[in-house]
Amino acid sequence: MKDPILIIGAGLSGLAAAQTLSTFGENVLVVEKSRGPGGRMSTRHEQLHGKEMSFDHGAQFLRAHGDGFRKVMDAWERDRWIAPWRGQFVRIQGQRVEPEEGRLRYAPGPGMNRVCREYADRLQDRVQYGTRVTKLDEEDGRIMATTKEGKCIGAFRAAICTAPGPQTGQLLGGFRPMLARAAESTSYAPCLAAMVAFAERPSVEWCAASIHDGPLSFVAEDNARPGHQQPEGPSRWILHASAKWSTEHLETEPELFAPLLLEAFGQLPEAKLSDHPLHLQGHRWRFALVEKTTAASTPETEGIPPVAIAGDWCEGPRVEAAWCSGVRAASAIRKALS
Ligand SMILES: Cc1cc2nc3c(=O)[nH]c(=O)nc-3n(C[C@H](O)[C@H](O)[C@H](O)COP(=O)(O)OP(=O)(O)OC[C@H]3O[C@@H](n4cnc5c(N)ncnc54)[C@H](O)[C@@H]3O)c2cc1C
Repeated sequence: MKDPILIIGAGLSGLAAAQTLSTFGENVLVVEKSRGPGGRMSTRHEQLHGKEMSFDHGAQFLRAHGDGFRKVMDAWERDRWIAPWRGQFVRIQGQRVEPEEGRLRYAPGPGMNRVCREYADRLQDRVQYGTRVTKLDEEDGRIMATTKEGKCIGAFRAAICTAPGPQTGQLLGGFRPMLARAAESTSYAPCLAAMVAFAERPSVEWCAASIHDGPLSFVAEDNARPGHQQPEGPSRWILHASAKWSTEHLETEPELFAPLLLEAFGQLPEAKLSDHPLHLQGHRWRFALVEKTTAASTPETEGIPPVAIAGDWCEGPRVEAAWCSGVRAASAIRKALS
């Protein structure tokens, strides 16, 4: 059997690349530093009084801008991995609350990681978690990958790196310099998030709000997502800080910034938080939303054995870009190997 193709990262871009290559009969190995798939589309599970509750603390919903991804989303909807998120969305500016009309938003259920989990499950033992690649080398015309612990995880005939741009830049520096430079040139806005659960639902009429001033940028009721509706149990909410506030408080500890975001929630118009939260936890997304992508002139692959890059940072700040870049990188690698 031929050596496998290495894919670094089990976010949507890495799994889209793996799925595409597998469809063409290629042997792949996906390595992921975390304990599960999803990356920024992951779902956090917490225990409350011996019961599990979940929070979608990263990406919130999906939309298709192009026909290609529209078709992919149609298939996901047919398979019931995603569903339209129907509920009252509002826009808040100062004390003004206005309904937000527009295109339908979709969300995976029962958790944001559903799509990634489905792809990872299909790949079975070809996804390896808890494996952080820190070095790539070349030996006898093959790519050798080494983990943080100094363990060599194998020899590969090609590789696709989907770690955030600045991290890909470090990994590929000195190995595939053109791609490393392209990756290093990308930038992100951070996002500080809080996951909060109440015994009683806060007194707002909406289930999600985009906020245009103050510390918060987006607030969503986790229970209200498609596939999430749990009539009993705590009322779970996600609070996202604006890029400006997140940048200003980036090095603040999560246990300090989470109460500040909760306070900002309580100050939104009509929001009466009737009790102390049952659960409050902060999460820092250092690389959250892409601000600057790679240049259009970036090569599709570099070197032999070929290496490609993928991730939203190659195309734009959304799930769709992650998917499209993964599929494109897989095609580029196949072309380079043929
Ligand atoms: C707070 C927030 C809100 C968002 N809201 C939306 C939204 O509503 N709609 C939308 O379309 N998009 C949204 N996004 C953006 C969306 O989540 C991303 O565009 C998309 O998930 C990126 O997928 P990816 O595969 O490119 O990267 P990631 O999901 O970041 O995946 C990269 C993976 O690589 C792994 N990794 C990194 N380094 C290594 C290494 N050295 N070795 C092994 N593994 C490694 C990481 O652990 C990660 O799992 C949001 C993002 C955030 C953070």
